[in-house]
Amino acid sequence: MIILVINCGSSSIKYQLLDMKSEEQYALLAKGNLEKIGLPDSKITHKPTGKETVVRIQSVPDHTLGMQLVLSILSDPVCGVIQDFSQIDAVGHRIVQGASYFKGSVLVDEDVMEKIQICCDYAPLHNPAHILGIRAMQKVLPEVPQVVVFDTAFHQTMEAKNYMYALPYEYYEKYGVRRYGAHGTSHQYVSQKGAKVAGLDLNNSRIITCHIGNGSSVTAIRNGKCVDTSMGFTPLEGMIMGTRCGIIDANIVPYIMKKENLTPDQMTDILNKKSGFIGLCGKSSDMRDVVGFAEEGDPRAQLVVDKVVLDITKLVAAYIAELGGVDLIVFTAGIAENNPWLREDVCKNFEFLGVKIDKEVNDRTRDAAIISAPDSSVKVALIPTDEELMIARDTMRLTKDII
Ligand code: ADP
Repeated sequence: MIILVINCGSSSIKYQLLDMKSEEQYALLAKGNLEKIGLPDSKITHKPTGKETVVRIQSVPDHTLGMQLVLSILSDPVCGVIQDFSQIDAVGHRIVQGASYFKGSVLVDEDVMEKIQICCDYAPLHNPAHILGIRAMQKVLPEVPQVVVFDTAFHQTMEAKNYMYALPYEYYEKYGVRRYGAHGTSHQYVSQKGAKVAGLDLNNSRIITCHIGNGSSVTAIRNGKCVDTSMGFTPLEGMIMGTRCGIIDANIVPYIMKKENLTPDQMTDILNKKSGFIGLCGKSSDMRDVVGFAEEGDPRAQLVVDKVVLDITKLVAAYIAELGGVDLIVFTAGIAENNPWLREDVCKNFEFLGVKIDKEVNDRTRDAAIISAPDSSVKVALIPTDEELMIARDTMRLTKDII
């Protein structure tokens, strides 16, 4: 099956085209990114497997024309990877917020669209863009089934004690204020793959997954199901991130708003876009830069580095206790995949439990592998995340009998 995976933002369309022979056997045919939709200099970067990358700058006024451009470049005689876009069997869309409506991936119909629309309240930056993407795809490929895969769905197995905040209960009933979590597709993928790499039976396992990227979250997983996760009502809660503050005393918010005379929108912007690495170190939200500044002796950059390690440590420690032990700790996403020192420093904090990293293996590993020493009490793995593959698998599963 040829499956197109779409991750649609308000001004961008990221795509991957996969040839899925089965869940395990597949080939990535092409991937790419269309940026700056709505501007005169929209840019598409198209990477066909085995061919040269193509970059085109041209005006793409809206998402429908954007989807048409993606389909035409995928079937282009020179840089394309299929002869005709009628070869596409199904489309899978990444959706950031499905709230309590979606406990798994589903086929798109009008009822599903209505619920994704209701969830815009919880993800005002993301869900409206996803809706644009689905509608655009319905216009350009009206006969092709579409599936939606939610970042929140994996976390729907949490119990009330994990997802409820100790606020007046009516805010949960009236406004749906509760923990939803995020990065669920990634946590699910790396826990499944991690169990395989570690030789564990997923249905009889305690796994902690650390997705440490520009956005970061840690999840506790028992027998393949999410028990707890660090992101909350929105992807702001949890640990320090590139531009997000993570957990803070909620009273800080009205205190700063009063002192600085800020509106709710201005404060939201500060918490989400001006805090975290950029807020503390003041120079960059990118871990590569922060590490560079720290190595040059910048104390505030060093503070960021130390806080990242501490925040992960505190979450992992809490989740070990919640799970009653742990069989596998998994590291994934941009920061954790590319910075061996971070994995080593976190694991050092669990030496008292017998966790031992194999330094040499950890330093050189880039692909999915066990990075703990053979005599470590807990296995530790590096698993590069692949949310698109997970979306393609769900899309295949839900459409294979109807096409
Ligand atoms: P997102 O949450 O946007 O998907 P990523 O998972 O791509 O984020 O992670 C982005 C982070 O990963 C950035 O802070 C970046 O500095 C870090 N990163 C990416 N590549 C490297 C690298 N080669 N070395 C060090 N850090 C890296």
